[in-house]
Amino acid sequence: MKCSLCDREAFTYIPYARLRLCREHFGEFIRSKVVRAMDRYGMVSSGERILIAVSGGKDSMALLHIMNSISQERSLRVLALHIDLGIGEYSRRSREIVSMIAKSFGIDLIVYDLKRDLGLSLPEMKKGIRRGTCSLCGLVKRYVMNTAAIELGATLATAHNADDIAIYILKNIVIGDWNSCIKLVPVIPEVKGYVAKKIRPLYEVYENEAMLYVVSQNIPYVDMECPYTYRGGIEERVREFLNKLEEERPGIKISFLRKFTRNIEVLRINREEHIGQCTSCGLISSRDMCSFCRITQKIFGEPQGKRVRDFFRSLEMVDTS
Ligand SMILES: [Zn+2]
Ligand SMILES: [Zn+2]
Repeated sequence: MKCSLCDREAFTYIPYARLRLCREHFGEFIRSKVVRAMDRYGMVSSGERILIAVSGGKDSMALLHIMNSISQERSLRVLALHIDLGIGEYSRRSREIVSMIAKSFGIDLIVYDLKRDLGLSLPEMKKGIRRGTCSLCGLVKRYVMNTAAIELGATLATAHNADDIAIYILKNIVIGDWNSCIKLVPVIPEVKGYVAKKIRPLYEVYENEAMLYVVSQNIPYVDMECPYTYRGGIEERVREFLNKLEEERPGIKISFLRKFTRNIEVLRINREEHIGQCTSCGLISSRDMCSFCRITQKIFGEPQGKRVRDFFRSLEMVDTS
C-alpha cells in the first residue's frame, strides 16, 4: 500500500481522514494537527515561555518532539520539567531517557527529584498517610508543575491526549464531578500568582497516534508502566465504551471534545469562583491550607509548599531564552 500523498510505502491508515500515510507524511500530519488545535483554542502567543512536563512516556516524548520542532516558527521558548518520583527502576529509566532526549533536542531540562529536593520519595511519602499512591502522586505532580510554571513565569504544557481527556470527562459526568469536568479544557487561563496558565497541545491527538508518532520518528520513550498503575474501575469501562464508539464512528472522540469545549461555558454560569490563598505557601486553595501543604504536613510534620516554591525560585537566574 502506498502513501496517499507520495510514492513511499504507507506506514499507517487514518480512518477519520481516510488517508494512508508514510512515516514522513504521518509526522507532518500530526504536527499540523497540533498546530491547528493550538490555533483553534488560542493556546499560545509568540514569545511565550513553555514549560513542558515530561514523564518519559510516549505522550510526553511526542509532545516534547512536536513542541521543539514548531518552537522556532512560533517563536516559543521551550524548556522541560521532569519530576523524579523515586519509584525504583521505573523512575530511573524515565529520568535517563528524558535527560538523553532533552539533551539531544538542545532543550533545557529541570529535574525535580522528590527524594533529593523534598527529602522523601513518593513511596516513602505514601507510608505516612492513608491516601492511595496514584492519588498522592497526582496531587504532588500537579502542585510541583503549577509551582514550577509560576516561579519560572512559564505556561505549563502537559501531554494529555484526546483519549485521556474524553475518558476523564465522561468519568466525571458519570460520578457527577462537574468541578473536575470544567477543568478538562484545552487552555486553563492564568490567575496571576496563584495558578499558572496550562495548555494541552495534544487535545486532539489520539492515544494511538501519539504512540505511532514516537515510533515513526524514532523517538525513544519509557515503555515500562508505573508499578502502581491500577487498571479497573469506571475509567477502564469508559475507555472500552469510547473505543467501541470510535470504531463504529471514526472521529467521534474529537467531535465530542470540540462540542464539550464549545459548551462548557454553560457549566461555569452560577458557579461561584472562589479563589482563596493557602496560608502556608500562598498559592491557590479552597481551604485555609492547600491540599499539598495539608498532606505534606501530615507526612513531614510541616507543610512543604514553600520549600517547593523556593526550589524553583532559586532557578530564576537560569537563562532559557
Ligand atoms: Zn508520503
Ligand atoms: Zn500550600
